[in-house]
Amino acid sequence: LASGVPVARHPFARARQLHVQLRFHAQRYYNLDAPVISDGQYDTLLQELRNLEATYPGCRSADSPTQRVAGDPAEGFRQVAHPNPMISLANAFDREGLEAWHRRVTDLLDGQPFRMVAELKIDGLAVRLTYRNGRFAQGATRGNGQTGEDVSRNLRTVRSIPLTLSAHPPADLEVRGEVYLPLDSFRKMNEERERLGEPLYANPRNTGAGTIRQLDPQVTASRNMQMWAYSLNDAGDAPMPASQWAALQNLGAYGFRVNPLNRTCETVDEVCAFYDDMLQRRHDWNYEADGVVVKVDSLSQQNSLGVAGREPRWAIAYKFPAERSTTRLLDIIINV
Ligand code: NAD
Repeated sequence: LASGVPVARHPFARARQLHVQLRFHAQRYYNLDAPVISDGQYDTLLQELRNLEATYPGCRSADSPTQRVAGDPAEGFRQVAHPNPMISLANAFDREGLEAWHRRVTDLLDGQPFRMVAELKIDGLAVRLTYRNGRFAQGATRGNGQTGEDVSRNLRTVRSIPLTLSAHPPADLEVRGEVYLPLDSFRKMNEERERLGEPLYANPRNTGAGTIRQLDPQVTASRNMQMWAYSLNDAGDAPMPASQWAALQNLGAYGFRVNPLNRTCETVDEVCAFYDDMLQRRHDWNYEADGVVVKVDSLSQQNSLGVAGREPRWAIAYKFPAERSTTRLLDIIINV
């Protein structure tokens, strides 16, 4: 893809070629916040590798991009281990993919009915927030899923991240959410750059990710970053809420910003109606969303479904069709 290198014919050689390309693009995207291909193009390459590995299992190695979560933590920040790994999400690109996931979950739950929560998939940067005695103690990026960057100083400047929790929260808490650069802030930044004759920022997602990984927290503070909280991962000695929906309500009560568009769904039809509605409205908001995340609501059902590789079996990201094209699509030469 735009590499100038002929596509290898042999499946193992093609897999190696895809490893190199995907690693290069993951580094540009996750570590440098400067992708040179669109997300849709990246997803196509990753899907090609997944298909190859499914057909030729010998192609799959432990360090394959299909087995890895995001990028390595960047230098310049203290690296911190996550108490609970921050994994990825399996994707569905159409209704068929969603139905296949729903059937798989139904089978694994021996036909038990299950409720779902459908949430917007915010296109930002995943962060893990730790609270001790009701106060913000540490915030970290996802990094490689096991270890992230300690960006606490920057996250303290994000107004929608409470520094002290309200409404009798458990003493200790681990919360996850998506931090993002609001679109109006992004536009203002680019207008200013245009006025100064400087090159424009490529997109809000990567500019936002770069903003959280600034070494100077004043820069972060000046950009009006926001966060939607979407999961409660640990409540210390307190009991965990019995469902994702209850967790979202609790997060709201503790002072987190929880997306009011989230809803519960009983059937695939209801999820699809929500998806269609969100897809139609995707340009109405002051942030970007790249799909809908569908989660099994009950925590005990989630626990019995567990995790497969780098993805929980109890959730799926039903992606919107790709529309972003990178402003600077370079003709990349990658030697493989
Ligand atoms: P993913 O698609 O596997 O989704 C997992 C992430 O979704 C979580 O980490 C979380 O941050 C986020 N999320 C947003 N809203 C959520 C919600 N309500 N509930 C739960 N999670 C929510 O994430 P990924 O592995 O980082 O996906 C990679 C994305 O990055 C893809 O869209 C891919 O195209 C893009 N990418 C692009 C390039 C490029 O070169 N253009 C390179 C690498 C990755």
